[in-house]
Amino acid sequence: MDEQSENRKPGKVYLVGAGPGDPGLITVRGRYLLERAEVVVYDYLASKQLLKFVPKDAQLVYAGKRGGATHTHTQEEINQMLVDFARAGKTVIRLKGGDPFIFGRGGEELEILAQNQVEFEVVPGVTSASAAATYAGIPITHRDYTATVAFITGHEDPTKAGSNIDWSKIATGIGTIVVYMGIKNLPSIVQNLIVNGRDPKTPVAVVRWASTPEQQSVVGTLETIADIVTEAGIKPPALIVIGEVVNLRSTIDWYEKRPLFGKRAIVTRTREQASELVAGLEEAGASCYECSTINIEPVEDYAILDEALERINEYHWILFTSLNGVKYFFKRLHSKGMDTRDLKGPDIGVVGKSTADVLSQYGINADLIPPLFTSDGLAESLLDQGVEGRNILIPRAREGREMMPETLRGAGAQVTVAPVYKNVPPQGCRDELRAELESGKIDIVTFTSSSTVTNFLAMIDPENLEELEKLMHGVKIAAIGPISAKTVTDSGLEVDIMPEKYTIPAMIQAISDYYKYQ
Ligand code: SAH
Repeated sequence: MDEQSENRKPGKVYLVGAGPGDPGLITVRGRYLLERAEVVVYDYLASKQLLKFVPKDAQLVYAGKRGGATHTHTQEEINQMLVDFARAGKTVIRLKGGDPFIFGRGGEELEILAQNQVEFEVVPGVTSASAAATYAGIPITHRDYTATVAFITGHEDPTKAGSNIDWSKIATGIGTIVVYMGIKNLPSIVQNLIVNGRDPKTPVAVVRWASTPEQQSVVGTLETIADIVTEAGIKPPALIVIGEVVNLRSTIDWYEKRPLFGKRAIVTRTREQASELVAGLEEAGASCYECSTINIEPVEDYAILDEALERINEYHWILFTSLNGVKYFFKRLHSKGMDTRDLKGPDIGVVGKSTADVLSQYGINADLIPPLFTSDGLAESLLDQGVEGRNILIPRAREGREMMPETLRGAGAQVTVAPVYKNVPPQGCRDELRAELESGKIDIVTFTSSSTVTNFLAMIDPENLEELEKLMHGVKIAAIGPISAKTVTDSGLEVDIMPEKYTIPAMIQAISDYYKYQ
């Protein structure tokens, strides 16, 4: 045995339930294991978004298996793969949609592992029946309606002889019935329940892609649901929930009632800053396509800032007009062996609350935040205090606007503009962005600065206004404030939504209100 294989730990397979769709519904244990995976073998129904937790150098294997479509791997191949990876000493995560032991063939895979003396563990997951009911506003049990629930598979054609399901007992012996894999056989399933004595007026809900932004649900009765599903064009994966509890949906439905449910947004922001807006829109129910239109990079030359830092005590004010201005200013300050204590001389003004928050991470409270969160607002607040003969330093983007420095100079201030970072349009993502727009599924595009507008337009690169209007047809535009709004209108497009306060939370609120009150 060589040294390496001697030290090699024995491999192990973790059979992990991925939960029903929303990546937030995996267990803490499941996520912990994904973060330590060497190989992940995942199914069609396991959310792809969970793969972001997997280490970059881990091997990802898509095991496919989708009802109706060609199987990517046979069950035997998957079983063999798990055995082989484990024998090679790997930590293998076998990731399955929902719970691995509920219509997931988890038991079969583990039997093979056991036969081959491969060590394994199982992590349960939120099964899709539970999620579909919950996210459709249906408590699966309720003291006033039922004391029993059955999970059954609809995969078997109930008209065939030799079925494993005793429909005569299920039809009247169980309160709530949840059917997995039942869409194809729905007409015969409902027929069988009715024939075996279940009231044809029993309410039924069908929920597709439960707990994801694509969730779609319809409600009917045993008599009507098959036609309703055909009409709505509902395809697998979907669950059928049958029983009186379905009536509670009219009171309890919460997920589909969120203001942005079913809306898809393009969020144009810098890579570093996208998360707050995306998280807020998703909380309100939207699905987001994050499109980074700007990358923030340091400037090549810090001579102006360096010189200003040498005599920082001669400045009366430092003004920050963006969070990146703060971040890159401090980066440079620290790289010169200086720190926050060197800034005790000048007062510090910021454009708005988010910038003030970042500043406070460096231990500094802003002395001035204008009531209107724009750089013009900041200039005005400063003018109110009088700037005649004051020395003012503005660390900011290389391509910032000249308005504020000029206003201040006009009022007699000495202004030093120090570029500390630059905005550059990122490579790639153009084709994806155009495809999103052309898909016709985009409801809204958000702009959080003037340069996101300019770069967005540069990225989709329309031939002319006509093509631009065609691409943006039916798409609402939200701009964070008047300056980004003006860049939108200058391009020939119109702004539909602009918050009163120019902050991300206000923007999220304005977008939600727009759809709520429409
Ligand atoms: N082990 C899985 C079930 C796998 S069987 C679990 O515990 O959920 C596959 C069936 O599950 C699909 O045909 C569909 O009926 C159901 N299903 C899985 N995910 C679903 C989802 N997000 N929405 C609706 N149905 C889903």
